[in-house]
This record gives sequence, C-alpha cells and structure tokens, in this order.
Amino acid sequence: MLTNPEALAGVRFDAAHFPNGHTPALAIASNAAEVAWVLQSHSTVLPIGSQSSLTGGATPRGEVVLALRDLRGITRIAPDRWRVGAGVTLAELQAHLVQHDAFYPPVPAYAGAQIGGAVSTNAAGPATFKYGATRGWVEGLTVVLADGSVLDLERNQCRAHPDGYFELTSSSGARRIPVPAYHLPAVAKVSAGYSAAPEMDLIDLFIGAEGTLGVITEVTIRTVGPAPRSSLSFALCRSEEQALALTATLRLESQLAWKGAGNSPDISAIEYLDAASLEILRAEGLAEAVGIHLPEPVGGALIIQREAAAPGLEPRAAARLAALLADTQLGGALLVAEPRDLLTERRILDLRAGVPLAVNARVGRAQREIDADITKVAADMIVPFEHLGEMLHLFREEFDRLGLEHAIWGHISDGNLHPNALPRTRAEADAGQTAIVRLGRIVTAMGGSPLAEHGVGRNPTKQALLRQLYGAAGVEQMRSVKAALDPAGRLSPGVIFPAV
Ligand SMILES: Cc1cc2nc3c(=O)[nH]c(=O)nc-3n(C[C@H](O)[C@H](O)[C@H](O)COP(=O)(O)OP(=O)(O)OC[C@H]3O[C@@H](n4cnc5c(N)ncnc54)[C@H](O)[C@@H]3O)c2cc1C
Repeated sequence: MLTNPEALAGVRFDAAHFPNGHTPALAIASNAAEVAWVLQSHSTVLPIGSQSSLTGGATPRGEVVLALRDLRGITRIAPDRWRVGAGVTLAELQAHLVQHDAFYPPVPAYAGAQIGGAVSTNAAGPATFKYGATRGWVEGLTVVLADGSVLDLERNQCRAHPDGYFELTSSSGARRIPVPAYHLPAVAKVSAGYSAAPEMDLIDLFIGAEGTLGVITEVTIRTVGPAPRSSLSFALCRSEEQALALTATLRLESQLAWKGAGNSPDISAIEYLDAASLEILRAEGLAEAVGIHLPEPVGGALIIQREAAAPGLEPRAAARLAALLADTQLGGALLVAEPRDLLTERRILDLRAGVPLAVNARVGRAQREIDADITKVAADMIVPFEHLGEMLHLFREEFDRLGLEHAIWGHISDGNLHPNALPRTRAEADAGQTAIVRLGRIVTAMGGSPLAEHGVGRNPTKQALLRQLYGAAGVEQMRSVKAALDPAGRLSPGVIFPAV
C-alpha cells in the first residue's frame, strides 16, 4: 500500500484526462489473495490496468486504486491455450507468443493495455473485421469478487438457467444473479455495460463489465499461429464516397479470400481518416514529423492491412489489391509497407495514431486559452456496414448544423467510427455532447451500438447513451446484477452507471 503523494499522483488520471482524479492510497497486488485482502479491507476500490481508458473508467474518485500490473506470468496449457496474468500488457504477450509461433489477434490499437483491462472492456480494434472482439478469444477467467471470494471460470462450464438467472455458490455462500433481459445490438463490437443473452455463459458477464463485478487476476486466452505476415497500404481517396465504396469492395474481396479464392487480397483491417483528420495532421505538423507529404485537397485516406497469401498466390493477391487502388487520388497507394518493412509500417501507424493526439492537442489549447471547462466531444459508434454512409452523412449534417468543426476517423471495415467535434467554446462543447446523444439514438435505430469498443466508464455522455440504448429499465437490470455480486457497492462505484 502506497500513500506518498508521488505514487498517488501517478494514478490520478487515465487517457480520458478526466478532471479531479483523487485517491487516498495505491495498492499493488501480486496475487489473487492480495487482491482479496485489498477488497475486504477497504470500503471502495477501483481496479486499474494501464489506465489507457478513454472513458474515465480508470480515473479514481476517492476509491483505493488497485494496480494489477504485478500479476505476471504466461503459461502454455494447450497448443492454442495460454494462462496469462492480468497485468501482462498486450505488447508483452505478443512478444512472448511470437517466440512460440502463436498469435493473439483481437488487440486494440493501444498495445500497452493489459490483458485484464482489455478483457474488462471487451476491447476490439482494427482487426475485428477478420478476428472479432476480445470476448471470442477468452476461454477462462479467475475473478476475485467484492467480498474476496475467488471464482475460477471456464467457458461452457456455467450457463444461466432458462428462467434467467445464475445460481452461484462461493466461499461466502449461495447467491442468485439475474440475467438482464435486454437485447444486445447485432454488430461486431459492443462495449455497452453488462452482456446479456438467454442461457448466457457466466464468463461473459465479467467480460466487458469494466471492473464493476469483480477483479480479473488471470485470463485463459485462445491463440492462432503463427502470426501472419502483413503489409500496410496508405491510399488517398478522391472523396468520402470513394473511400466507402472501396471499403465495401475490399470487404467482399476479403470474404472471398477467407473462402480460399487465391486472387483476392486477405484484408484484416481497414482504417479511415477523413479529410478533416488529414488537415489537422498537416496543421499540427504530425504528417511532416513522420515524413509523409499529404497533398491538398484530399478526400480522405484508407490504411489497408493485408495478410500475405500462400507463397505461390501472393503476387496475384498483391496485384489484385494494387488494381483495386488504381482509381484512388494518386492512381495507387501513396505508401506501402511490405511485410517486415518495420520502418515504413511505423510511419503509417504513427500517422494514424497522430489523429487523436492532434485532436487532443487542439482541445487542450482551447481549454488553456479560452475556457478550462471545455470538454472533449468524442464518440465511438458502430452500425451494420450497409448503414455506414448514412451514418456519416447524419454525423456531418448534425455537426454542420451546430457550426461545429469536426473530424471523423476509425475502424471503417467494421462500420465503427469515432466522430469528434473540436469545440472552441463551452457552449459548443455542450451542444456537441447533446448532439452525440441525439446521434446515438439514430445509430441505435439503425441496429448499431452507440458504445462500440471503449466502454462507458464515468463519462456522463456515454452513461446517457447507455440509458438510451437499453432504457432506464435496462440500467436497473444492470444494477440488480451488481447488487447480487457486490451488495455493498465496493467495486468501482459510479462506473457504467451512477452509484445510487
Ligand atoms: C491511443 C489509444 C488507442 C486505443 N485504441 C483502442 C482500440 O482500438 N480498441 C479499443 O477497444 N480500445 C482502445 N483504446 C482504449 C483502451 O486502450 C482499452 O479500453 C484497453 O482495453 C484498456 O486497457 P487498460 O489496461 O489500459 O485498462 P484501464 O484503462 O486501466 O481500465 C479500463 C477499465 O477496466 C477496468 N480494469 C482494468 N483492469 C482490470 C482487471 N484486471 N480486473 C477488473 N477490471 C479491470 C478498470 O477499472 C476500467 O474500468 C485506446 C486507447 C488509447 C489511449
């Protein structure tokens, strides 16, 4: 347990930069028994991974912070199964697996996240298009409940009763946990409160629960292998319409490749940066910093990750992708990182990662120079791909109507984009937050999720989106799950929904 100011200052914020983070103590646990002790000895506790949360879910508001980074260890328990300590980062995991010709695909864009954090947010990322989100790769969990009892769960071991509840017996006795009755949107990524389905697996209740139902200390993951060799193509489009049409074609081509069509490129991820994102990269000097010259004007850009085909088929798949990109603004990709060209790959990925950094820098400047209360206006929404053009049109129409400067980027191959407004005043920020909730309603009506991969956390706009998605009754059902597992409200109070 640390209480010195330097240690506490180091854990007051997550990547959402929520204000007023504060904690009386930092506990660093190195095994499940220590986690149990921390939970039994303190009235409120907030588990943290690498604090890369973009929702304030890892920002303490007076709770004891419980760091899991010392939960280490990676053990192979079957050819495609590994037991991993919650504190292992995804970069460390991947570096270990590569030595054993294994690969864990569903990593978010930030590889410094811990596996415990990724499971707790059901993280997804660029390659969800081919591989799905975290949930599909988790086979087992060790979870310490709020009262200190320890659950060892394996997938397919404990299913809900057909009448909608789990009967759970642990060292502290028997309890009944209700299964929420709402329906999750049928899209590739949903990180919107507790999972729910008829006769669901108990393990799925803890995946994506953002630490509010228990502390994950170990995870059994499934892997494939070996890691694919991938190339990255960075292509400039004439217009947003062209970017959408090209993505639709590439999605279909990939599906052919997965069925064994040798000529088709096997695409695992397509990222999109709209014209405003590119303009911001240029203005903030980030394009220049990675040595990429962006011509003006430009309609948008795609970053296409293609997995290499079998050696004999590889030239045909590469040629097919080049042909598909021939009609883009420069008659082909501006930059291609071939497999193992790590330097070019890094430049392209740094450019992509630069967009949220540049937007944060703009918002930070507005906070310093105009009004400290200006908030970031950002969302993380997904719709079935066929509705993506309509969704983009509605985002732009709404931001333009309010006179809000904006940029949109993200995982276009999943229909998952991050619309961001760049408020210059507090009134613009407030209008932007209201617009996000309004747009969330439309996304929900399209069969999408207004909360795709980042979770809900302590963000009031995201909590409003959650209420809108499942209704007040749905949030009450989540409260009942929480009350059954954590009756004293010890774990992460105020995360996902208000504490009272
Ligand atoms: C640059 C950048 C890019 C990103 N890209 C993506 C992306 O592509 N896809 C995506 O899904 N997310 C993305 N994120 C968000 C973030 O990286 C993910 O949500 C990640 O899974 C969080 O992991 P973490 O270890 O940092 O957890 P934290 O941020 O520390 O915690 C996240 C939540 O999980 C809880 N938690 C953490 N560890 C545990 C545990 N062991 N047991 C119980 N609860 C726990 C915390 O209480 C908190 O509510 C990105 C973030 C950044 C900064």
